[in-house]
Amino acid sequence: MFKKILIANRGEIALRIQRACREMGIRSVIVYSQADREAKYVKLADEAVCIGPAPSSQSYLSMPAIIAAAEVTDAEAIHPGYGFLSENADFAERVEKSGFVFIGPTPESIRMMGDKVSAKQAMIKAGVPCVPGSEGALPDNPKEIVRIARGIGYPVIIKAAGGGGGRGMRIVHTEAALLAAVQTTRAEAGAAFGNPAVYMEKFLENPRHIEIQVLADTHKNAVWLGERDCSMQRRHQKIIEEAPAPGIARRLIEKVGDRCAAACKKIGYRGAGTFEFLFENGEFYFIEMNTRVQVEHPVTELVTGIDIVQMQIRVAAGEKLPIAQRNVQLKGHAIECRINAEHPYTFVPSPGRISMWHPPGGPGVRVDSHVYTNYTVPPNYDSMIGKVIVHADTRAQALARMSSALSETVVEGIQTNIPLHRELMVDAHFMEGGTNIHYLEGWLVQHKR
Ligand code: ADP
Repeated sequence: MFKKILIANRGEIALRIQRACREMGIRSVIVYSQADREAKYVKLADEAVCIGPAPSSQSYLSMPAIIAAAEVTDAEAIHPGYGFLSENADFAERVEKSGFVFIGPTPESIRMMGDKVSAKQAMIKAGVPCVPGSEGALPDNPKEIVRIARGIGYPVIIKAAGGGGGRGMRIVHTEAALLAAVQTTRAEAGAAFGNPAVYMEKFLENPRHIEIQVLADTHKNAVWLGERDCSMQRRHQKIIEEAPAPGIARRLIEKVGDRCAAACKKIGYRGAGTFEFLFENGEFYFIEMNTRVQVEHPVTELVTGIDIVQMQIRVAAGEKLPIAQRNVQLKGHAIECRINAEHPYTFVPSPGRISMWHPPGGPGVRVDSHVYTNYTVPPNYDSMIGKVIVHADTRAQALARMSSALSETVVEGIQTNIPLHRELMVDAHFMEGGTNIHYLEGWLVQHKR
């Protein structure tokens, strides 16, 4: 096992990884930008290295600064967390070329999954169900493009092969609008992602977002750890996640979960990963794979009892997965609310000093957050300041537990989305379960928020 790991991230996930290291008896090195200098997890770290000024381009995205920090501290491995460099194949490669272990998949896997066209082709080959669409990138020939769209049937969605973060997509409802849309998306994709390749898919009108968590080691073992429902989104960003997904037959999920684990073995995947699907009319459609730990991993940890971050570290150190598929048992129901420093209904960011922080507690309540009273939320990064996660025997009990936990939570000095979460926890449709990815946007309009 490693003696020392460098954590190339910030905020709650840096703290989460630091906790995993402590429990495993591994020393951790935190790298931080000048904006995070005062953060408590930085001060409490075994070792901390300032890697640059506040803008992430000069700190958390600076490969040379991070690798130099690993060199001067004698770290053996680098954990990238999520966001920042976590899905950057060049970074993974540079880490390994510099003699460190990258806690994540191989650069080849990251590269394959980072290009949505190659990811989809790999998944089709591995028998994972995908959204009907073009075979690979769209050709140049306009007649061919029109023919492909007719074959799929309108509406279709044009997506950039190199897209991410909800960008580089365009929905097309009629043939008249098709070619212009392809051209615009291509131009945008070239400018934004340096790759003008686009592809076409059937546009699903009212899907849910369901994802499968996987873990794979370097000894050809792979397991899936159940699913998460992340359909509660605003502007393509998840705010509430839960496990298991309400109202979907276990046999359907087991079928797709087994395919995901098999696909990991087939492509030689290692580490933690997530297969994201849209789910509509009883069918799963793969949209992309995330090759890193996800924000919402705690709901899976609570229902499986498996520490995903510790597993990432174990398999990166070359250990065999200590669990077989039959040992993965789901117990109860877990819900996570992302607490963001933002206006609850307009989503305008609200950075600044937290004059009072009182997190919730009690049975089945977990809080993953790096903030505290008098902590200042810097304006430079993502607005998420933490996550409240609950676990209970049933979904109804988990909802009640979350409502209770949120009612105890006090955050003063900045605005947060806690009022929105509190309303959603008692919303009749959400309580029923199974709302689709457009539900929250519609709710906001309907409630004039
Ligand atoms: P990104 O990497 O930018 O997040 P995804 O491929 O994961 O891109 O898609 C992001 C979101 O766009 C999905 O969660 C879904 O809301 C929407 N979307 C993508 N593909 C489709 C599709 N074929 N039909 C309907 N919605 C889609």
